[in-house]
Amino acid sequence: MSRAARIPVLIVSGFLGSGKTTLVRRLLEDAQARGERVAIVSNEFGALGIDEALLGGGEERFVELAGGCVCCQLSDELVDTLEALRTQVDPDRIIIETSGVALPFETQLNLYRPPVSAWVGDEASVVVVSAAQLAEGEELDGTFADQVASADLLLLHKIDLVAVEALAALEATIVAMNPDAPVLRAAYGQVDPALLFPAGPEDLAVRRARTAGHAHGHDHAHDHEQFVTEELRVPIGLSEADAHAWIDARKGLRTKGFVATQAGIRVVQGVGRRLELTPPGDLLVPPDLIGRVVVIRRGPSHDRHM
Ligand SMILES: [Zn+2]
Repeated sequence: MSRAARIPVLIVSGFLGSGKTTLVRRLLEDAQARGERVAIVSNEFGALGIDEALLGGGEERFVELAGGCVCCQLSDELVDTLEALRTQVDPDRIIIETSGVALPFETQLNLYRPPVSAWVGDEASVVVVSAAQLAEGEELDGTFADQVASADLLLLHKIDLVAVEALAALEATIVAMNPDAPVLRAAYGQVDPALLFPAGPEDLAVRRARTAGHAHGHDHAHDHEQFVTEELRVPIGLSEADAHAWIDARKGLRTKGFVATQAGIRVVQGVGRRLELTPPGDLLVPPDLIGRVVVIRRGPSHDRHM
């Protein structure tokens, strides 16, 4: 079935106690505030305790996959569940919260399998790392290292629980495990939702208007990271390789949009160092969006990793 946009999917991984649930709740609140419907597939339903109201009311769009891990034993069930959500609920966004032992990239591979590969849009994995647990230094190998190494984005979380002076060294620890992934810092799940569900050229104007109306009404006093959004105008008619190189040289933490190459229209999606140009399939790309790519970067005051 054709639609104007594919459904973005975010995979949230991380150890027990890293604050995954807090992050998911925060994303749900953000979606609710903008009237968007979220579906959640969780390995740990019981632990979440998500309020039905936060999901936007009504239909069943909270699915628990119990009795195994979504990245391996339950991977077929994950694909079936996503397809069922797509056909029965058609949500605006999907969040997959994995168990504490799942590997984000193994989970992500399921998004490239048919039939879900036909409609999954912007997809990314974020691995949540508790700064407090990291400071205790007991989880630096095995599954923890595998999770961190395969993340698109890393969230150094619960930064309010460690001394400010310790943050740089903690961040360096995870950067060493995955030099390609940008590291975000937050407490209480307060990540800019636009980094996890980035706007494309099709909804940037809406988001900009909303941001202007509620400038930084955060209720915690931590030094919030500042991000800027800009729109690139990609030259029309480059080869696919040249278009990729052109965007790659200008990409940010998240990159999203559409280009017209010599090989045809391409959907542009980037997270961290990863940048992909893919054919739109049956996606209906409005002509006025072609050649427009939205990039989110750190604000000018930042000289940290990416
Ligand atoms: Zn697994």
